[in-house]
Amino acid sequence: MKVKETFIGFDALKKSVSMVQILGHYGLLDRLHRSGDNLSGACPIHAGHNQSQFRVSTSKNCWICFGDCHVGGSIVDFVSRKEGVGIRDAGLLIQDWFGIRPPVAEAKGIPTPSPRDLSRNQNRSCESTVNSPLGFTLPHLDGTHPYLVERGLCQETIQTFGVGCCKTGSLAGWIAIPIHNPSGQLVAYAARWPGTPSDSQPKYKLPKGFRKSLELFNLHRAMTADVSAPLVVVEGFFACIKIWQAGHQRVVAIMGSMLSQRQAELIAKASSPLRNVILMFDEDEAGRKGRADALHRLGQSVKVRTVRFDTEGAQPDGLSKNELMRLLRMNPS
Ligand SMILES: [Zn+2]
Repeated sequence: MKVKETFIGFDALKKSVSMVQILGHYGLLDRLHRSGDNLSGACPIHAGHNQSQFRVSTSKNCWICFGDCHVGGSIVDFVSRKEGVGIRDAGLLIQDWFGIRPPVAEAKGIPTPSPRDLSRNQNRSCESTVNSPLGFTLPHLDGTHPYLVERGLCQETIQTFGVGCCKTGSLAGWIAIPIHNPSGQLVAYAARWPGTPSDSQPKYKLPKGFRKSLELFNLHRAMTADVSAPLVVVEGFFACIKIWQAGHQRVVAIMGSMLSQRQAELIAKASSPLRNVILMFDEDEAGRKGRADALHRLGQSVKVRTVRFDTEGAQPDGLSKNELMRLLRMNPS
């Protein structure tokens, strides 16, 4: 006999049940370490062993796995993944486990949330944890645009990084630069104006809602490069691309001058097993500040060497291949 259940809705459920209750239901609380508002431990979803990959924020009532799952969300997303069921079924399970019933007067006429409501609710509960894969690619990016040649990129590099001038849409006329998550999924396009923008226009654009502090540009390629080489960390896209082109493929960009905590964690992981990191930031005020901060953040977990330039304003992408390789203490081929 099929029991017809009235689903109280995701918002009401998330207000009624906490992540701690859910973890308690699965008997997982003893395995997690508490620090303030946060719980951390091995991920119970992908059954990992790394004790820092799974995090729960009790105040935000959400979770994230920085390991194989590379995903996070609400109580409903957790149960959905743990049970291998859709989120509506996960919601009904939670309702059942905790004996939550809709108030009698409101039991009728509560609409089932539409898929759009669902995704909005999920985003609201844990919006800061991951950038969702984009789900589309920009068509016909022109890799022969003169700006790319001007910046010293060769065809092989342009193709590897998939950069090119966008011909249509809101990015028409801009150079699009694909950004991937650590699993290699496309999560955003950065846009660079080819040349000096007019005063009202920014040099770079990033999509609304995209959180660059959660990603490292080129990380998915850097992780598959020669692991005996140090991981080079730079500020910008073009510095990263130029170092890759010069022959050092273990390079990532933080897409700014200040390293986030999440980026520091990604760097520590990606620089394994030797954990050698070289910081090559721009030689200007923001770069020096960012370098000192990055040194502080990374110094505890990895071996860091910093490269400084003699000339004020110098940037890695302005250097020749030989200069770059000399600074990285590698032999130019
Ligand atoms: Zn996981």
